[in-house]
Amino acid sequence: MRKHYMRIPYTDVLASPTIIPKTSNTIAGAIAAIQEFFHASRSTVVLSGAGISVASGLADYRGAKGTYRVNKTYRPIYYSEFLQNHEARKRYWARSFLGWTTLLKAKPNAGHYAVKHLGDLGLVQSVITQNVDSFHPKAHPQLPTIELHGYLRSCVCTSCHEELPRDTFQHELARLNPAWEAFLQEILATGALDTENPDERRSKGLRTNPDGDVDLPDAPYTTFRYPSCPRCLTAPPIATDGSRARVEVDTDGAWKSTSTAGILKPAVTMFGENIRAPVKVEAEHAIENAGGLLVLGTSLATYSAWRLAKRAKDRGIPIAIINLGGVRGEDTFFADLDPSQEGSQGVRAEFSIGELLPALVEQMRQSSSMNSAQEDHNHSAEQHGASVFKDMMS
Ligand SMILES: [Zn+2]
Repeated sequence: MRKHYMRIPYTDVLASPTIIPKTSNTIAGAIAAIQEFFHASRSTVVLSGAGISVASGLADYRGAKGTYRVNKTYRPIYYSEFLQNHEARKRYWARSFLGWTTLLKAKPNAGHYAVKHLGDLGLVQSVITQNVDSFHPKAHPQLPTIELHGYLRSCVCTSCHEELPRDTFQHELARLNPAWEAFLQEILATGALDTENPDERRSKGLRTNPDGDVDLPDAPYTTFRYPSCPRCLTAPPIATDGSRARVEVDTDGAWKSTSTAGILKPAVTMFGENIRAPVKVEAEHAIENAGGLLVLGTSLATYSAWRLAKRAKDRGIPIAIINLGGVRGEDTFFADLDPSQEGSQGVRAEFSIGELLPALVEQMRQSSSMNSAQEDHNHSAEQHGASVFKDMMS
């Protein structure tokens, strides 16, 4: 069987999209087209990407319109490098230690709650997300979410596969690296982490070297320490050759490079790593059972996401794409549509998710309450689902 490794996504500038149907160039037109889409495609599956999280304050690494990268020095770590290289892990965890508080403060936004309400209306049956921020499961715990590339809320052991909450891990990092913890508290107080602007960050005490790393004069990141997997430390696993693996820590509990197991990694799919097989199967299954695919805030730059959309196309189900900027291979998704169709066969609109989706839900709420009033006089007010929208974007 072919393996699907995570690869570095396309970063080429993609061509501007052709808007489908043409009337989708306004918010009202796009809403009308998506209503047509929902009318034609029962059991829609949502496939989302970074664009839906932008309004939560998390940068879309492709940047607005997909034309530049927010952090030019950003270079993702490969799985093999993480696994083999103690120094690379120190650097990764030092960065992650400072970045975690930003993610922890960020919350789902109106776009995620709009997806929840589409689920409540019975229009969306499940969500596949490439995002690792856990905003979908937080916003709509009742509507199933498949996290294609894993999640940052946990670490996972590369030996025994036991998960550890990232928060617990963060406390351990703070304990093992007191100089970094003091520095983190300092820059949290100055607000240096509240901005993406490097000049502003520098003026608030967050200086980075040309590689984008923070180096503390008294505690360079080469001295950064991280804990071992607690389970492997208690019961070292058996290696593939049948011998017992070695898991060694210093007096404070930091993983030592003499160890042969017990390395924790973030529970996300790193570049060069396979998507977990059950997750891949679950995502494929969702597409096989979908009546339509709604793509939200992603350029489908990663192969694992693109191939799900391709599969939906091969099955002949309608596809609607809402994304700022071009989407990989999108012309082929819409090549054979009837030019006079109004959204039932496909939609392509270019709006931010946070702008379009809540407006769509509001429109559907209004038209559904109007229809209910006309079609059925016997139902009581509660049965019209009045409670469905009450917590919207509160
Ligand atoms: Zn372990």
